[in-house]
Amino acid sequence: MSDRQSQQSQGEMTIVLDNDQGIESQLEERLGLECPHCGVYAHMSPQSVPDAAALLRDKPKHVGLVYQCDACHAPVFLRFTVREYSDNRVELLRNFVELERPKERFAFSYLPKHTEVLFREALTCYSNNSFNAFASMCRRAARSSFNALGEGGKLRAFEEVLTAQDIAGIDDETFTPIKAVLFGTGTEEDLPLLNRAQAGILLEVLKDLFYQCFVRHGKLTRAIKVRQFFVDEENSSLQSA
Ligand SMILES: [Zn+2]
Repeated sequence: MSDRQSQQSQGEMTIVLDNDQGIESQLEERLGLECPHCGVYAHMSPQSVPDAAALLRDKPKHVGLVYQCDACHAPVFLRFTVREYSDNRVELLRNFVELERPKERFAFSYLPKHTEVLFREALTCYSNNSFNAFASMCRRAARSSFNALGEGGKLRAFEEVLTAQDIAGIDDETFTPIKAVLFGTGTEEDLPLLNRAQAGILLEVLKDLFYQCFVRHGKLTRAIKVRQFFVDEENSSLQSA
């Protein structure tokens, strides 16, 4: 089972589907969840609930429910584990698996094309809890970005990452595997195995690196160009007056 499960209280509180009454009141209680569609932490209301009679007949181990996001009204698919079948009741464990995870966002349009493709796939791996696939794709995306930065690009990136470590106050022991992923020169075998916490740090550090190297540059030059445009407009209208 996925380790991405709800952090909500487990065990005691159950969801009950009742053969006589349809949905018992406990299910009416709404869930709070980060919506995979709009990204808002919102309440989710039950939208589509399986037929209790069919469940009691087939007794599947897992049951799918569809909730509706209160913020954007999109359907959100959740899978629950059945705790117990009794005479005319189905009890579900309160913790669930989200079948769609929220996507990580980034200003991709500022990245070099090759880097963008790799980084998008890295973030997809991360959203799917595939943290070592994520690490491999981070290395490829990082190498692609060093090439795009040109001569001295890797050294510059290394300095940016050390600055990020310093700003965020990350200790060396925690940071060593992050650096090994991004700057290791060997083959894939020298990639350290990352857990969720380390992958989360790697994600933020690489986003920051790309921001410093590409997004910041792109936004700043674009903003200055726009300012320049209005200055030129003003000058030409003054001249023609
Ligand atoms: Zn939503």
